[in-house]
Amino acid sequence: MKTYPAVVNPKPTAIIIHCMDPRFATAISLFLEENDFNRQRDIIMSFPGGPVCLAHPRDTPSRSKWLIKKLRFNFKHFPTIETIAAVIHEDCRYSNAIPQDCRIPGKEALPLIGGCLKHYFPEKKIVLPYAKFTDIHRITFELVDTTQVPHLLEEAV
Ligand SMILES: [Zn+2]
Repeated sequence: MKTYPAVVNPKPTAIIIHCMDPRFATAISLFLEENDFNRQRDIIMSFPGGPVCLAHPRDTPSRSKWLIKKLRFNFKHFPTIETIAAVIHEDCRYSNAIPQDCRIPGKEALPLIGGCLKHYFPEKKIVLPYAKFTDIHRITFELVDTTQVPHLLEEAV
């Protein structure tokens, strides 16, 4: 019988939330490695749109509530997590699934996502990378300054 290694006493230090769009998979992996994240140590939450629903939690309450609950679960079970990285990307096809009147294009959504995360998890460090094409073959990342993140005053979800 073939066996595989188990991680004994895991100590993730970050949660990374990103879209599963395969066009960005390699770039996101390499970017995370270069920025002291580790796909084997840390927790990866990868699904369509990644954290984009948190840019408009009042308009996407079920998706936002689902994501906040999953984050709370992880923080409860892995108290070593200090950082949330919320990655969004250019030309995200999931944005078509967001109600039209509250779609926020691209990078503009990141400060809102950061504000929502800061509201629920004020003790966590928040990192907000935006992935965009430089041409059809290459992707670069911009980091949104988290000091510009608004602090939401009302409960979002
Ligand atoms: Zn996407």
